[in-house]
Order: sequence, then structure tokens, then C-alpha cells
Amino acid sequence: MTELLEEQVVPRDFYARSAEEQEDFLAQTWCNHCQEIDLGMVNPKEFESKDRIWIEGECVKCGNTTVTEIVEDDE
Ligand SMILES: [Zn+2]
Repeated sequence: MTELLEEQVVPRDFYARSAEEQEDFLAQTWCNHCQEIDLGMVNPKEFESKDRIWIEGECVKCGNTTVTEIVEDDE
């Protein structure tokens, strides 16, 4: 019945992460608009789908949406 929903996106709580992790994710960014790394982001929102987790925020420099994919180490 849910075949049409190819990728179901579920919001997660970014602020449930440790302060250290939050800081890292907010600092380690790539902005497609500025074409620069580590400009930083504000207003982070975290999401997950079946295959991936990512954080969306606004670039500190230009205000455009910047996305950071999170690679969880499952070792
Ligand atoms: Zn930017």
C-alpha cells in the first residue's frame, strides 16, 4: 500500500545529539551556493529516510540551504 512512497522522510531531533556533535555538524558544512566548506550553518533540522540521515540548515554566509549527510559508523 505504501509502494508509492519511495523515500519516507522522518524528522529527527538534532538537539538530542551531544553538544560536541552538534558543534561539529554545524561547523563542518559544504555550501553549494558559496562552493566553500566549513562556512557553518544555522537553524539545523535533522531527517532520516530508509537509507540515510542528514541535517539541513542555512549557510551562515549566504543563507541558502546547506545539507550535511551523516555517515554513522556501525562497527
Ligand atoms: Zn553559502
